[in-house]
Amino acid sequence: MKRKLLTLSIVSIMALLLSACGGKKEGAEEDKIQIVATFSILTDIVNEVGGDRVAVHSMVPIGTDPHEYEPLPEDIKKAADADAIFYNGLNLEGGKTGWFSKLIASVGKDENDVYELMAGVEPKYITTADGKDEEINPHAFLDPIVGIQMVENARDALSEIDPVHKDSYEKNADALLKELHEIDELYKTKISEIPEQHRILVTSERAYQYMTDRYGLQEAFLWDIDTEEIGTPRQIKNLVDFIKEHDVPALFVETNVDRRPMETVSKETGVDIASELYSDELGKPGTDGGSYVKFLRYNIEKIHGGLVR
Ligand SMILES: [Zn+2]
Repeated sequence: MKRKLLTLSIVSIMALLLSACGGKKEGAEEDKIQIVATFSILTDIVNEVGGDRVAVHSMVPIGTDPHEYEPLPEDIKKAADADAIFYNGLNLEGGKTGWFSKLIASVGKDENDVYELMAGVEPKYITTADGKDEEINPHAFLDPIVGIQMVENARDALSEIDPVHKDSYEKNADALLKELHEIDELYKTKISEIPEQHRILVTSERAYQYMTDRYGLQEAFLWDIDTEEIGTPRQIKNLVDFIKEHDVPALFVETNVDRRPMETVSKETGVDIASELYSDELGKPGTDGGSYVKFLRYNIEKIHGGLVR
């Protein structure tokens, strides 16, 4: 009799232990808000603001162009199952006829399921290769002040999707916003240290327009956007002519573009390529551009280092 009781109690203790391990637990993968984000910069922002409440699937991998992308079967499945999908907007994912719009329609989602992190950002325009049309420049995230808007948008979206944890999203967002305000100050200070005649940022793609307008740098570039023709003899000649007429101390080339056209410019002008800069994607995790704030800090350190002479 006694022995039987003991066995029973061991069984019930084991059952209790099992239920404690396997039961619903705060932070378990399946309890998290399932988010899909289009590319690395957004993924990092949503991860930071969402903290352990969200599981984020990033679509465009580092090393792949977010302007034109062919979603993989896994992206399509994740998008279909997601609680919400975050995208950049401002034409980055190809606009109304681009890959992202097609994906959303194909998985039966609509505007209630998607959140544009650039909502409220004033668009700036670039000229298409034929010189006839203007289109929106999508690269607003290179401007830390726009980054502040993106974080606020992510916070508001997550609070709407999951109002129970609003406080946590606010707390996480506040920490990131504080850092972005510091980075804004850093940009102002670093650029003020560059002699005025050297405040010219030369890159391959015209990706830095929002940032250069904000902080008073002049921009010069080979092509307007990666999706058009890149590195043509005419583009190279135009930039070489510009550099000969200006006091340009250094050239830059983005991590995600073909270096060769800028190397030709460097050879023809005698101006060195000072550094790579980040533009359309973060660096690999753990590297100096592995998060959005690191990416912004890296760029201004390199720009300052190249131009302050
Ligand atoms: Zn780009």
